[in-house]
Amino acid sequence: MARVIAIANQKGGVGKTTTAVNLAASLAASEKATLIVDCDPQANATSALGFPKDPSRRTLYQALVLDEPIERIAIDAQIDRLDLIPSDKNLVGAAVELLSTENREYRLKLAIQRLREKYDFILIDCPPSLDVLTVNALAASDAVLIPVQCEFLALEGVSELLDTLARLRRAVNPSLAIEGILLTMYDDRTTLSKQVAADLRSFFGAQVFETIIPRNVRLAEAPSHGMPVIFYDIHSKGAESYIQLAREVITNAQKRLGSGTERTDQGTGAPAATAAAAGAGSGGNSGSGSGGGSPSTGPE
Ligand code: ATP
Ligand code: MG
Repeated sequence: MARVIAIANQKGGVGKTTTAVNLAASLAASEKATLIVDCDPQANATSALGFPKDPSRRTLYQALVLDEPIERIAIDAQIDRLDLIPSDKNLVGAAVELLSTENREYRLKLAIQRLREKYDFILIDCPPSLDVLTVNALAASDAVLIPVQCEFLALEGVSELLDTLARLRRAVNPSLAIEGILLTMYDDRTTLSKQVAADLRSFFGAQVFETIIPRNVRLAEAPSHGMPVIFYDIHSKGAESYIQLAREVITNAQKRLGSGTERTDQGTGAPAATAAAAGAGSGGNSGSGSGGGSPSTGPE
């Protein structure tokens, strides 16, 4: 039974899509059957996985608005154990077209219900807004993963977002958990990055992932080659950090299964996410090498 995780933050450019694509690829490389749902009309996750614009491709639009079975829309992302429900700009129309539909907040939840059996993880990449698409994503999810850029006023931003999520939880999904707050684009040369990370940790404690995603040029380059970073440069700090994040997500899922509770504390000694990454896919030129290196960054 899949764990469904929305990657959301209404602020733009904080690393949602980078996280969705690279966490999904790292989970798949860790032997977890994974589906990525591109819920953003910008279709950045779709193109980052190597699927350029193609008007003839069926997308999430057909499932949400035209009720087509979602199984027929999911495509093989050309990486072992990773499938994709693509998006395109038609999804902008979905936001408007769904306005007059009954139960419009639950369209995605209903659509992916049948897919839950097939995957271990379903990740939903959300647009930078709180429109009906994001509400659909959050209504369909077990938990939300919040990428936060290490910058001025990050703490205020996250506090506001958590308030909004609390309201949303009451309205559409009382069981929505916080998968974790993920620090992204961390630059350990700047005092600001360090300060923001320390503040977020002291305020939100165990809700913040142990893993920190560094600012890394390979992460920014990989989408233009249509591949996740583990296939573009497995030895990069960016690849290491997303492999480490996948381990943390898997460990937390296992702990939850064991204890029957929601996210507690951070994981250590996780199962292998590791070297499989180097050879798991067919899309890359990463060569060999183990991906299970030491964490690229640490909080303190
Ligand atoms: P949007 O709100 O528009 O959907 P987003 O939150 O999905 O944006 P991304 O598209 O993942 O954000 O990232 C924004 C930009 O920053 C992209 O150009 C991406 O390649 C780059 N980027 C993301 N994470 C990193 C990182 N850790 N290091 C370097 N560049 C990054
Ligand atoms: Mg995005």
